[in-house]
Amino acid sequence: MKTDIVTGGAGFIGSHLCEYLLERGDHVICVDKLSSGKTDNIQHLMNNPNFTFREADITAKELDDNVDFIYHFASRASPVDYQEHPVETALSNSLGTHNMIKLALKNDATLLFASTSEIYGDPEEHPQTEEYWGNVNPIGLRSCYDESKRFGEALIMSYIRQHGLKAKIIRIFNTYGPRMRIDDGRVIPNFMKQSLNNEPITVYGDGSQTRSYCFVKDLVEGVYRMMNSGETGPINLGNPDEYSIIDTANIIKSLTKSSSEITFKKLPDDDPAKRRPDITKARERLGWEPKVNFEDGLKQTLEYFRKSLKIS
Ligand code: UDP
Repeated sequence: MKTDIVTGGAGFIGSHLCEYLLERGDHVICVDKLSSGKTDNIQHLMNNPNFTFREADITAKELDDNVDFIYHFASRASPVDYQEHPVETALSNSLGTHNMIKLALKNDATLLFASTSEIYGDPEEHPQTEEYWGNVNPIGLRSCYDESKRFGEALIMSYIRQHGLKAKIIRIFNTYGPRMRIDDGRVIPNFMKQSLNNEPITVYGDGSQTRSYCFVKDLVEGVYRMMNSGETGPINLGNPDEYSIIDTANIIKSLTKSSSEITFKKLPDDDPAKRRPDITKARERLGWEPKVNFEDGLKQTLEYFRKSLKIS
């Protein structure tokens, strides 16, 4: 039996990953300091004998478990959220990544680092391939996140070159699904909450900016394939179906049969104008591509938010 550590395992993506790995028959150690993660997300796993939950801050403490695979997902990921906690976010992806590298080397384990499409910044190439170096403001409001993810990638590559670290880098594009926090400030939870409550839908800017949304279960399948491949990456994981924000608002409004009006607010600084993954590498090297279409994924997400908001 293989042992995995999932940092950020009580978070949105992390909790789905823990579930998936348990289903595969692994022993899973979920490490989370419960800042943005919550025990509700893993409550249903607590009685599983192959699941261990540990409340710990991976930037403060070095772990000494015997492990085979390390999935490093601990970091806030919502722009609103990480901008409220910039130091914590910067350290999760730098110091936290360093601690996970040391744990991997001690065990001869394989580390998978959850990097992000945000390393491309406000991209001047479209769609984004892994070869693109990005257009990032190093001191901007988003830099605590995108620069720390870039540093995490750089640190991993340095350890691979100098110490033969076994590691993999994935770049995750916008992901959505059940267990997103309804109040995390990201576009899908915001629009769903507003639509379900028939409150104004807040489109930032003119809504012409685009995002490409991947359903969380599709993403987790890609993460697992990456870990079990011979690839180091970086490899983009995301759904290439691209939507403008105004279209996103209208789709969610109509799906929820909402009477919300669409309102326009100031566009946040450094908000990327467009984002869409080129997933040729993931298709060719991992045999992976997303399967869940936007409407089906939104319906499943909606069920979750209805329950969270106690709307029947
Ligand atoms: N956005 C919006 N209204 C909201 C929340 C977000 O128009 O209430 C926009 C935001 O400006 C961005 C896009 O939706 O252009 C995606 O934002 P999100 O915070 O989900 O993540 P990002 O992709 O920017 O990291």
